[in-house]
Amino acid sequence: MKSATILLLLAAFVAFSAASEYKAPWVEFDPSRVYRPQDLRQSERLFHEAKMKEIVDHAISKGSVFASSVVNATSGQTICINTNAVGQKKDMTQHGEIVVMQNCSSIYGLFDWTGFYLYTTGESCPMCQSAAMWNRYSKIIFGSSIKFLYCNHCQAQILIESQVINSMGYGLNDFGEYVPAQIIGGILEENTNSLFKNYCNPGPYDTNSQSVHPACLTDSESDE
Ligand SMILES: [Zn+2]
Repeated sequence: MKSATILLLLAAFVAFSAASEYKAPWVEFDPSRVYRPQDLRQSERLFHEAKMKEIVDHAISKGSVFASSVVNATSGQTICINTNAVGQKKDMTQHGEIVVMQNCSSIYGLFDWTGFYLYTTGESCPMCQSAAMWNRYSKIIFGSSIKFLYCNHCQAQILIESQVINSMGYGLNDFGEYVPAQIIGGILEENTNSLFKNYCNPGPYDTNSQSVHPACLTDSESDE
């Protein structure tokens, strides 16, 4: 009986040791990487697609292209949804992500948005990406990439991709509590890519400040 108890304790100890060393593969991710739809489990991909569709529909209903939302990852509920307010406020910093984060912070008064996801139709610029990291959103999910908007749609962009900023978050570490955000890109990008206006041939009378002549290499140029 006594040896059986010792064996049982030993088995429990071994099981506990193994459990404490075990790390689920989906908990570990690389903050310097953009995860694509094909990297995700189907249930997660479908969830992000539904939330992306929600902001695409919201953008269209508001006559905008830049829409963002904040989603509670536990309940799955969208708690804030907004569009870019640059034109409305005459303020170039009122990107969709900034508007929705400020809206949500003013309603809920949280300093730490761990456990919440930030959705955006276009990849976050360095300003928005940094703001999302200060707010500690757990995942940032976008449709169209900065590269696509700049190279294919001739849209003004600061050319630092969001994962570059995301990989620098270790400076926010507070007693080891900081967990970097996971970036997921290309969710419903066929929808978001067609949502964004193409500025490449704006016509002779166009004075839109969003229009640029992109310095992007074609595949044949980059091969040389
Ligand atoms: Zn931005």
